[in-house]
Amino acid sequence: MSQAHVMISGAGPVGMVSALVLARAGVKVTLAEAAPALSLDLRASTFHPPTLDMLAPLGLTDELIAQGLVARYTQQRDRQEGLIAEFDMALIKGDTDHPYRLQCEQWKLTQLIKNQLDKMPHVTMHLNTKVEGVEQTADGVATRLSTDGQAHTVHSDYLIGADGAWSAVRKSQNIEFEGFTYPERFLVVSTDFEYADHLPKLSYVNYCSDPKEWCVLLRVPTLWRVLFPTKVEETDDEVMGDESVQRRLQGLLPQPVPYQTVHRTLYKVHQRVAKNFRHGRVLLAGDSAHINNPLGGMGMNGGVHDAMNLCHKLLGVIQQGQSTDVLDRYERQRRSIAIEYINANTARNKKEIEERDPVARQKTQDELRAIASDPKAAKAYIRKTSMLDALERAEAIA
Ligand SMILES: Cc1cc2nc3c(=O)[nH]c(=O)nc-3n(C[C@H](O)[C@H](O)[C@H](O)COP(=O)(O)OP(=O)(O)OC[C@H]3O[C@@H](n4cnc5c(N)ncnc54)[C@H](O)[C@@H]3O)c2cc1C
Repeated sequence: MSQAHVMISGAGPVGMVSALVLARAGVKVTLAEAAPALSLDLRASTFHPPTLDMLAPLGLTDELIAQGLVARYTQQRDRQEGLIAEFDMALIKGDTDHPYRLQCEQWKLTQLIKNQLDKMPHVTMHLNTKVEGVEQTADGVATRLSTDGQAHTVHSDYLIGADGAWSAVRKSQNIEFEGFTYPERFLVVSTDFEYADHLPKLSYVNYCSDPKEWCVLLRVPTLWRVLFPTKVEETDDEVMGDESVQRRLQGLLPQPVPYQTVHRTLYKVHQRVAKNFRHGRVLLAGDSAHINNPLGGMGMNGGVHDAMNLCHKLLGVIQQGQSTDVLDRYERQRRSIAIEYINANTARNKKEIEERDPVARQKTQDELRAIASDPKAAKAYIRKTSMLDALERAEAIA
């Protein structure tokens, strides 16, 4: 077994996928996670086709499918007019083994990976453990950790910062996180109310545009999740309170009784990309490297794509003696995709779903109808929205 040792900060989906890829190849892995347990929060809930393709050889995809919902169709709707365009992901059969989105909570992925890592003696996971600082030398990285206030240091060959938007690893390397934060926050409410019984032909993934209050309706196995923008002037308490939640849900679909809600999450939304994804032996992946609004479901998926790209290159360096220059190619490939593709498309999705100008709204809707009615154009659209094109583009970057 290789003596190489990789330290990973953060046990979210990106840190966990990285750990699994490296550990399955025999690399010694140490993971530090600040929280006392893996997160069970309802965050991302869409797995795109290429992500399912990548996770299959790791023994994860079949288990995720067993715990999720296969969404063959996605819809663009208008809150007043109803269905505008439906896209059948079966059109990309042949380009992927999984021609559908999988609606499945991200915590199920990290839990499945933990089950595998727990059986590997060369993997150490420190929970309740924060990365506090990082020092690099010519031949290694010293990561300073604290567990319940007790300081300790782990020495490794490389460090992957997969510690999310506020990444201590990114900050330790003084890497700028360029971009902006939207003034409004996003509210996600989940409910066991069955929307499909009331809104005809609803799919599991529905983007609903509206000039006053757009929303996204997403199905996960036991719940519907409804995402709304909030007003800048609303306080957190106001947004999260019953009055605001019921007003929003009743505005979407009036019901004679109040909606029962299961979760409510309010979060800030950013479009940011780190200036560098590599600094010597320190590498950033996932939310620590780029964050974006959730319209299109590209955050977690893009992060998993980073992890796969990075870990295969790291294995090339560690186990096959390849030049560390390939790690610069990781940055060139994945940073370009974060800027040109993930941030650009999610920003455009937000602009279109919230558009107020009636002429521009009509134009977008006409275009969507035309694309959906032409199988060739629809296939191109689905390849773009399912991130297949982004991966092809990344491969073309030298
Ligand atoms: C509240 C919220 C809601 C979201 N909702 C959606 C959604 O609806 N749809 C969507 O597509 N995407 C959503 N996202 C984005 C999506 O969840 C992320 O893109 C995805 O989790 C990225 O995975 P990651 O592993 O890079 O980072 P994370 O999942 O953030 O994992 C980072 C991990 O690092 C740990 N950590 C942080 N600091 C340290 C430290 N100093 N030392 C050690 N560990 C540390 C954290 O505890 C965490 O477990 C949401 C994100 C948030 C925060």
